[in-house]
Amino acid sequence: MPQPRIIVLTAPSGAGKTTIAHRVLDAMPEMSFSVSATTRPARPDETDGEDYHFLSTEEFEARIESGDLLEYEEVYPGRFYGTLRSEIEAKAEHGPILLDIDVNGALNVKRAFGDDALALFIAPPSREELRRRLRKRGTEDADALRARLDRADRELEQADAFDGVVVNDDLDTAVEETLTRIRQFLRS
Ligand code: 5GP
Repeated sequence: MPQPRIIVLTAPSGAGKTTIAHRVLDAMPEMSFSVSATTRPARPDETDGEDYHFLSTEEFEARIESGDLLEYEEVYPGRFYGTLRSEIEAKAEHGPILLDIDVNGALNVKRAFGDDALALFIAPPSREELRRRLRKRGTEDADALRARLDRADRELEQADAFDGVVVNDDLDTAVEETLTRIRQFLRS
């Protein structure tokens, strides 16, 4: 397998990371997206195999057993998410790969790939804005929303461990900044 060049985007839920990831993929056709495995149910607008590989807990455990997960985390209680080795291996041949994963996963991938990985942290302008965006999105019930905000607080504390931090105040500006950093990294 050619040495993959990995871009990892991490952000608290609601910081706009998925939107930025889609915009980066549109702007850089040579980049592919690592579709993670997860045990959480699909949202109505999500497609199996495109947004995630949606697995049962048993199927996910079987993937752990067979060593097919490069990293995985129980991101929320009972909800597992992981990066499939098979995804990285298949896509490395076509160019750089974009991963949209949580803080711990990102730091594990950075440890594994070192200078072949760029880990960027997308930060919301403030905690209040993050809460407002999550409420507006309306995809989570009150308990899940609280869990996401608690987790966001812990994640924000780890932003300094990343190669760079992009504040998503204005989306277009954040996308441009993300693209600039990625292009710089790919030239290095
Ligand atoms: P969501 O449920 O909103 O799609 O994702 C919840 C969190 O799980 C996000 O922070 C997302 O980046 C993270 N996540 C998605 N895929 C992976 C993965 O493969 N590994 C890890 N560690 N986190 C992931």
